[in-house]
Amino acid sequence: MNLKSSPSSQSIPAAPASARAIGNEYDFFRVVQSYLDAASKTINLAPYVNAILSQPKNEIIVNFPVKMDSGEVRIFKGYRVQHNNILGPFKGGMRYAPMVTLDEVKALATMMTWKGSLMGIPYGGGKGGIKFDPRSVSRDELQRITRRFTHALGENIGPEYDIPAPDMGTNSQTMAWMMDTYSNMVGAAHKQSVKGVVTGKPIASGGTLGRTKATGQGMVHCLTEWAKDRGFDLEGSTMSVQGFGNVGSHFAVLLSKLGVSTVAVGDHSGYLYNPEGFNPHKLQDHVEKHGSIAGYPAGKSITREEFWAQKVDICAPCALENQIGEEEAAAIQARVVVEGANGPTHPVGERTLLDRGIDILPDVLANSGGVTVSYYEWVQNKRSEAWTLEEVDEKLETAMKRVYRAVDTFSRHKKVDRRIAAYALALQRIEAVYKEREIFP
Ligand code: NAD
Repeated sequence: MNLKSSPSSQSIPAAPASARAIGNEYDFFRVVQSYLDAASKTINLAPYVNAILSQPKNEIIVNFPVKMDSGEVRIFKGYRVQHNNILGPFKGGMRYAPMVTLDEVKALATMMTWKGSLMGIPYGGGKGGIKFDPRSVSRDELQRITRRFTHALGENIGPEYDIPAPDMGTNSQTMAWMMDTYSNMVGAAHKQSVKGVVTGKPIASGGTLGRTKATGQGMVHCLTEWAKDRGFDLEGSTMSVQGFGNVGSHFAVLLSKLGVSTVAVGDHSGYLYNPEGFNPHKLQDHVEKHGSIAGYPAGKSITREEFWAQKVDICAPCALENQIGEEEAAAIQARVVVEGANGPTHPVGERTLLDRGIDILPDVLANSGGVTVSYYEWVQNKRSEAWTLEEVDEKLETAMKRVYRAVDTFSRHKKVDRRIAAYALALQRIEAVYKEREIFP
């Protein structure tokens, strides 16, 4: 990881050409701003709308104490960035990872605004996290950290205001603790009505069926549409997956049902290769039990460089940002890169991939299944309903395929790549609302 804080978060976003020449230094927020600028040009976005969207509305930093198992008191730094809420409440995941920075959270929050808009759901964009390694603390400590963070955020979150969800290093259990803490903060009379303060909850605590696999499922819908257009048969094809957590593992499991064989996998512990194809269910169970792919018996250890250079049909980066730089992009031999992670492809890597004729299904489109099913969960909470898995799956499939078509059509008509097309469509919807409502006062 080579994340760098923005030297001045007020700097003007670079033009698209310069973004692609940023080099090896990675400034995630600036990269996202540069895509915003490129898409704004494509649709002649009103400059004041671009200016509003080029910075988040609120950047919240909280430092809070937690008593560790040893009796020591540690101070944690937590973030919540609220990018925009013209379309609806701020919405986005909570990340627990050692490399969390304000710059990263700003980039991720901004991307959430585009995703909500692109998918046509009434959400704005937000993102948060805590800078620490969740693997380095006990379960009890994790619970206390989560509860104290939720308390520190206080009224900065809420079911009609800002709605967290799982992201890297967090899961449905984290969301159950957050929801429980928040509901104990609002007083007995409101306790039952605030379940929607977070999504991605366990089913018994008000979660929805289909949320855990939703991001991977949405990626599958995008990939099957892409394959249909290319006359590409997924049955018998091969894939490499970086990141075997929620997103990567569900993508692999779901694609295995369509005959796609995962032959290379990697995570924070290393990389494995198996020409016969991994059993994604068994690998998922192994990760669940041991916390990583390390020690999985059926696979040969390979280097990170060998991982990216594997000859596969589909390459799925599902871990972190800034993973596919120039070198990785030059090595990749896949036909298509499906971005499960947010921002996995550096702009220079992106240029290299596109120049080599490798398609990219960009994050804001490909991984939007997560926020879409989060929205279904929120609606069910509001209505005190519980939809069947079939209802959720069917709605998600319709939504993903519709949006894939819209992005693909825009991309071909305007001769821009799919990422810029997705941004442009998202921006058009937001601009329409700003034009109608105008600027207060
Ligand atoms: P997760 O915590 O379940 O899994 C993260 C995976 O990344 C793990 O396998 C971990 O080992 C791996 N990883 C971490 N550091 C790594 C490194 N240095 N090198 C290689 N692998 C590394 O998280 P997740 O929810 O699956 O999220 C993964 C990505 O998908 C993130 O970029 C997240 O923002 C994005 N995303 C998640 C969702 C969601 O619904 N969970 C939705 C949209 C996008």
